Amino acid sequence: MKEKSNYCLNCKVKPCSTKGCPLGNPIPQFIEQIKQGNTEKAYEILADTTVLQGICGRICPHKKQCQGSCVRGIKGEPVSIGELEAYAFDSVYDEDDSLLKCYEDEMKKNKSNLKVAVVGGGPTGLTASAFLARKGIQVTIYEKYDYLGGLLVHGIPEFRLSREVVQKTVDKILALGIQVKYNQELGKNLLLSDLEKEYDAVFLSIGANRSSQMGVEGEELEGVIGGNELLEHKLHPNYEGKTVAIVGGGNVAMDCARTIKRLGAKQVKVIYRRAREQMPAEDKEVEEAMKEGIEFLFQNNIVKIIGKDKVEKVELIKTELVQKENDTRLVPVNIENSNYEIDVDYIIMALGSKVEPYVKELGLETNQWGNIKINEEYQTSRPKIYAGGDLAGVKSTVAWAAYSGREAAKNIAKI
Ligand code: SF4
Repeated sequence: MKEKSNYCLNCKVKPCSTKGCPLGNPIPQFIEQIKQGNTEKAYEILADTTVLQGICGRICPHKKQCQGSCVRGIKGEPVSIGELEAYAFDSVYDEDDSLLKCYEDEMKKNKSNLKVAVVGGGPTGLTASAFLARKGIQVTIYEKYDYLGGLLVHGIPEFRLSREVVQKTVDKILALGIQVKYNQELGKNLLLSDLEKEYDAVFLSIGANRSSQMGVEGEELEGVIGGNELLEHKLHPNYEGKTVAIVGGGNVAMDCARTIKRLGAKQVKVIYRRAREQMPAEDKEVEEAMKEGIEFLFQNNIVKIIGKDKVEKVELIKTELVQKENDTRLVPVNIENSNYEIDVDYIIMALGSKVEPYVKELGLETNQWGNIKINEEYQTSRPKIYAGGDLAGVKSTVAWAAYSGREAAKNIAKI
């Protein structure tokens, strides 16, 4: 790692941090500490802006974020910022009190009487909880499962992010004195109005865990499964000898494809209506998927799903990419009479996520996509209630989710 850290130029303008990193992590500063062999100090410097060092270091789309803005990348390879961040975390891996040591002086100084409930213990909620605790605020997390981590545990397969790294991160955050109530779910056994009465503020970070649908004929057939639900509930059918089509080009599509291939599917085909260059999934994930034998049908769109009771075939149509006025992205347009059919046993819809249906019953204003509306302070239409992450329509990467949790916490601390 010494060599990798020495490669950093310690730039004054640090575009890696100011332009590339959603969290604005102090990148050259923490790398400087690694250069000097002070890895714990590197972790501490990062803790000023993030509590997910071990996670973001491993799974962020670095090429699109920090490393994509690195000055070194102009003429050659960028600095391995992700690896160095994970290395800083790993240097304090087994010390549950490492985050507490970074924050304890501030926690004592800030001592507050505020009590805040955080609903949802994924990356947004965990980050918000840690930054609230740093301000001396008493935090209770309400979590629907009997574990914390949310999509870090059930949305990202273990081969990309180990459960142990998530657990070590959670342990450090809980060591700040945060309480957790498990098996508590809004819309089931938890009422927002009760939390509103009991706490000074409530922060909602329950994500958007439902798969979006395409609205094509045959989507209701047995064998059409939502990608998010599949990853979350692991209700995999037996794929042995089967052909599975994955629709979509993001990381959920890649995670589904690679998981299903590992579970023994004969063929896994990813159907994406644009070209490879437009795929939102990270390059590294696409490359790995290709190496693992996953087939890609680029510039193909689904017309309809065919089958009697169960999926049997899918009708596809080829697309061409057209530059339209006032559109920054190339738009896929179906090529007339290029339809064809392929045999499939299962179709996984990985086209994006939407919020749970019960969100509209919460009595909070929502936007046209069903996300909870928030103002610049992350406050919803009810003043004591704040929201962040996917639930509020924040860009769906872990770093952006964490950013919204951190910024919401700063605003809640001001009340
Ligand atoms: Fe180091 Fe690259 Fe950031 Fe410059 S842009 S400080 S070289 S990581």
